[in-house]
Amino acid sequence: MFEKILIANRGEIALRVLRACRELGIKTVAVHSEADIEAKYVKLADESVCIGPAVPAQSYLNIPAIISAAEVTDAEAIHPGYGFLSENADFAERVEQSGFVFIGPRPETIRLMGDKVSAKKTMKAAGVPCVPGSEGALPEEPREIVRIARSVGYPVIVKASGGGGGRGMRVVHTEAALLNAVSTTRAEAQAAFGNSMLYMEKFLENPRHIEIQVMADQHGHAVYLGERDCSMQRRHQKVIEEAPAPGIDRKQITSIGERCAKACRKIGYRGAGTFEFLYEKGEFFFIEMNTRVQVEHPVTELVTGIDIVQAQIRVAAGEKLRFTQRSITMCGHAIECRINAEDPFKFTPSPGQITNWHTPGGPGVRVDSHVYTGYRVPSHYDSMIGKLIVYGDTREQAIRRMRIALSEMDVGGIKTNIPLHQELMLDTRFIEGGINIHYLEDRLDDLVSLKSGKKSG
Ligand code: ADP
Repeated sequence: MFEKILIANRGEIALRVLRACRELGIKTVAVHSEADIEAKYVKLADESVCIGPAVPAQSYLNIPAIISAAEVTDAEAIHPGYGFLSENADFAERVEQSGFVFIGPRPETIRLMGDKVSAKKTMKAAGVPCVPGSEGALPEEPREIVRIARSVGYPVIVKASGGGGGRGMRVVHTEAALLNAVSTTRAEAQAAFGNSMLYMEKFLENPRHIEIQVMADQHGHAVYLGERDCSMQRRHQKVIEEAPAPGIDRKQITSIGERCAKACRKIGYRGAGTFEFLYEKGEFFFIEMNTRVQVEHPVTELVTGIDIVQAQIRVAAGEKLRFTQRSITMCGHAIECRINAEDPFKFTPSPGQITNWHTPGGPGVRVDSHVYTGYRVPSHYDSMIGKLIVYGDTREQAIRRMRIALSEMDVGGIKTNIPLHQELMLDTRFIEGGINIHYLEDRLDDLVSLKSGKKSG
């Protein structure tokens, strides 16, 4: 096992990794920007190194600064968390070339999955069902593009191969709009991702977002840890996640899960990963793979009892997986609400000092957060300040516990989206389960007009 790990991230995930290391008896190095110098998790780490100013490009994305921090502190491995450099193949490569272990897949795997055209091709070949669409990249020839769109069938979605974060895609409903949409998306993709390669998919109108968590070691073993339903999204950002996905036949989950695990073995995957699918009319369609730990990993931890971050570290150290597919059982139900520092109905960020931070507790309640009373939420980063996760024997119990936990949670000094979560935990369609990826935005339109109506009236 490693003696010392450097955590190349910030916020709640930095604290999450730190906790996993401490439990494994591993020393930690926290790297931080000037804006995070006062954060308590930085002080909890055995050592800390300031890697630059607040702007991410000069600190959390600063590869040379992170590598030198690992060198001066004699760390053996680097955990990238999520976001920032976690899916940057060049970073993973630099880490390994500098003699450290990258806690994640091999750089080649990250590169393969980071390019969506190659990711889809690989997954299709490995027997994972994909959204119907173009065979590989779209050609330049307009007539060919028109022909492909016809064979896929409208509506289609034109997507950037190098895209991410919900950017670089455009839905096209008619042939008249096709070529314009393709050239605009191509120009945007070139500007935003430095890669003008595009591909085309059938646009699914009312899918759910269901993902499969996988874990693989370096000895040829790979398992899936069940699924998560992350359909509650706003602008392609997940807001609430749960496990298991309500109303999906377990046999279907087993079948898709086994295909994912098999694909991992086929490509020599290593570490934790997530296969993201759109699920419509009883069918799964692969959209992309995330080659890192995800924000929503705790819901899987609560229903499987497996510590995913510790498993990542053990695998990176060369250990065999401590569980087999047969020994993994999913039990009960877990729900996660992402707590953001923002106006609950207008979504404007609300950074600033937290004057009061009271978190809920009791059976089945978990809070993953790095903040505390007196903490100042910086304006330079993502607005997520923590995650409230609950577990229950049934989904109904989990929802009841979430309502109680949200009502106990008291945050002062900044605005948070807790009031939105409270509304959603009472929402009839959410309570029924199985809503699609557009549901939250449609519901928000109603909620927002209701709120503004109340104010003017
Ligand atoms: P990103 O890497 O930018 O998140 P994804 O390929 O994962 O891109 O797609 C992000 C979101 O866009 C999906 O969760 C879904 O809401 C929507 N989307 C992507 N592809 C399709 C499709 N073929 N049909 C309908 N919606 C889609």
